[in-house]
Amino acid sequence: MLSVHEVTTAYQGLVAISAVSIEVQKGEIVCVAGANGAGKSTLLKSIAGAERPRSGTVTFDGKRLDGMAQHHITATGIAYVPENRRLFPRLSVRDNLRLGSYLYRGDADREGPLNLVFTLFPRLQERLEQRAETLSGGEQQMLAIGRALMTRPRLLMLDEPSQGIMPKLVDEIFQAVLRIRDAGMTVLIVEQRMAECLEIADRAYILQTGRVLMQGPAEEIRGNPDVRKAYLGL
Ligand code: ATP
Repeated sequence: MLSVHEVTTAYQGLVAISAVSIEVQKGEIVCVAGANGAGKSTLLKSIAGAERPRSGTVTFDGKRLDGMAQHHITATGIAYVPENRRLFPRLSVRDNLRLGSYLYRGDADREGPLNLVFTLFPRLQERLEQRAETLSGGEQQMLAIGRALMTRPRLLMLDEPSQGIMPKLVDEIFQAVLRIRDAGMTVLIVEQRMAECLEIADRAYILQTGRVLMQGPAEEIRGNPDVRKAYLGL
């Protein structure tokens, strides 16, 4: 479904990811893990069109995405939740969700995705009139994911959904990812919390200083002695 082939992205000459290749098949949950600064966010930005790769290709269902404008990429069926979530802080939960669908889907079906969002995150339904800026970190993350779901994506990309969130809500969010996949979507997650991410993922990649260090079925990576020592603290 998604194919990233030897993508290199640099910031003012400083290479952040170098010849990175990853594949995501339809219906999978794929986790890209790695330490701070490994290039995880840059990889997602390069797919979403927020950064332009210097070389390499990104294809989604056979369509070339690299070089395409970000909103056109969204229109192909990819929703991207960036690290900073980019909610509209002064707007209510309801309006943030509405904007998710208006911006990209015009008058298209809103009921379906909205019901899914409420099933996944009942907290949002309880707080429809609350301003986004007054939500807790975890609730804001739920709203950001909810807003992304309103675009009815085929591929959902999440950048560190667990960041700045209390453990109980982290678990809720990871469980929601499983249900999002069960609802027919494909999910690509970038995470520093490798243990939790590997638990829900089918396959995983480990990035280290801008390169793919390791890849394979999540279970295999979880059992790898080097990974256990270096990343899982076991
Ligand atoms: P984190 O978990 O801290 O977000 P990450 O794995 O997502 O880390 P990136 O944010 O992709 O890593 O950063 C990869 C490298 O690119 C880092 O060395 C970082 O300093 C650099 N970098 C990221 N964004 C920019 C930018 N806008 N300008 C210059 N350098 C950047």
